[in-house]
Order: sequence, then structure tokens, then C-alpha cells
Amino acid sequence: MTPQEIIAKIKEENIRMIDIRYMDFPGTWQHFSVPACEVTESSFEDGFGFDGSSMRAWQNIDNSDMIVIPDPTTVKMDPFFAHPTLVLIGDIKDPITGEAYSRDPRYIAKKVEQYVKTTGLGDTIFVGPEPEFFIFNNVRYSCEPNSAFYELDSDEAIWNSGRDEMPNTGYKIRHKHGYYPLPPSDKYQDMRSEMLLTLEDMGIAMECQHHEVATAGQCEIDLRCSSLLDMGDKLAWFKYVLKNVAAKYNNSVTFMPDWLGSLELVSFSVD
Ligand SMILES: [Mg+2]
Repeated sequence: MTPQEIIAKIKEENIRMIDIRYMDFPGTWQHFSVPACEVTESSFEDGFGFDGSSMRAWQNIDNSDMIVIPDPTTVKMDPFFAHPTLVLIGDIKDPITGEAYSRDPRYIAKKVEQYVKTTGLGDTIFVGPEPEFFIFNNVRYSCEPNSAFYELDSDEAIWNSGRDEMPNTGYKIRHKHGYYPLPPSDKYQDMRSEMLLTLEDMGIAMECQHHEVATAGQCEIDLRCSSLLDMGDKLAWFKYVLKNVAAKYNNSVTFMPDWLGSLELVSFSVD
């Protein structure tokens, strides 16, 4: 969409909230919202100011002003907020010089895409991630001056085979036997389908969903491959949608720290 088309959509659909999102350096999606009257065509050139010193590993307090410039090609409607909210992902820039920010993950992705083109390595970097994650019923942790612990739990977990569940029907997934039993062992078919279909309804092409090898709710949902920057934006939506759908079921989704290790297709297309 162009900025003009987005302004027209906001008016036609009476959208009153606009959410601006960007990714910080460690990879957490950040956001703030403005009322629709604050968004004009010039917003896509002037951007919105924010405090870069409050972002991890970004600016110092004496040089904290930054702007985020919404990218009109990223427009989507948020699938969860109570008030209809249009979401735009933005690029980070210096408010004085207008230069792109070197620690903005989208800028890094753009530079990589440009490098591949200018060096003649190829035209497009296609990325097809297969993100794996765990769905837990309970996640607790604490680190106090006098104690520390963590505890994860799952209704699927083999360590709950002897738990009194009034009744416990015994369908627990043994260690490394999660690939791919049907329900009642697999307890998350409906939740995974809701995650996948929510993403598909947003225009994100999906490939499949399934249980994964481990006990305790390990799952995988795959996206159809796309270019590097586009896939980076889609994965931000992916993690956001999964965590919110899981929360509806009173569950928690945790992504494997090395989930990028499951990146199984990276290819260059060359004319
Ligand atoms: Mg896998």
C-alpha cells in the first residue's frame, strides 16, 4: 500500500488507532500507538520520535532522540486488540541527519540484501524458517538474594504420568516420542491450527504445523519462504501471534534460544 491508500483505508474503515512497531537490537518487537488523526502522508517521511536511550544497546541518554519511519508496505490489522488497530512496521533513523540507524535489524537486513545484489552473488535471499517452540502450561522462575529456581510444566509431559489429574488418562508423550502422535497424546492440534490460520488470515503464507520430537509440548509451524527483510517482519508477527493465541488458552509459548538453527532453507536466486 502507498501512504495515500493507507490514509484512505483508515478513513473508510473508521480505524481510530495506529500502532507503530520496530525491532530492538536483541530482537524484541517494540511498539507504541497513536490516534488516527496523528497519521498523515507526511508521517511516512517525518516519522515519530521516541527515546532511544530506553532501548537496550541503543543510544546514550545525552543523545537519545530517534525517529521511526513507518514503512507503508508493511501495513496489517492487529488480530487481537479490542479496538481496530492498523499496524505499521518502521525503520529507525537519526532525527537530525536522517541517516538509517546501524543497530536497526531491518537496516541490517536491507544492507545484506543490497550486498548480495551489488556483489553479483544473486538477486534475492530467500529464507524459509521452520520455527520450533514449546507450549507450557506453567512457567515459573525467581532469582532472589536468598534463592533461585525455575520450573516448567506441561500436561503432555512424561514426568506427569503419575500425577493425580482426577482422572489422569495416561496419554503422556515419552521423551523423544513427539514426532507425530495423534490426539489424545498430541494436545495442541487446535491451538496450532488457530495460530497458523490467524497468520494466514493476515496474508502470511504458511506451509504446515505439527508436533515436534520432545515431550512437554514441543511444536513447529512453518512459513512459506520469502525474501530476507520480508521474512524478518513475518517472523516478528509469527512470534507475536503465537504468544497471544497461547495466552488465550492459558498457556505460554517459549521459543528455543537457537530457533534460528532450524533455518533449513537459505538460497540465492541468480539470473
Ligand atoms: Mg523441526
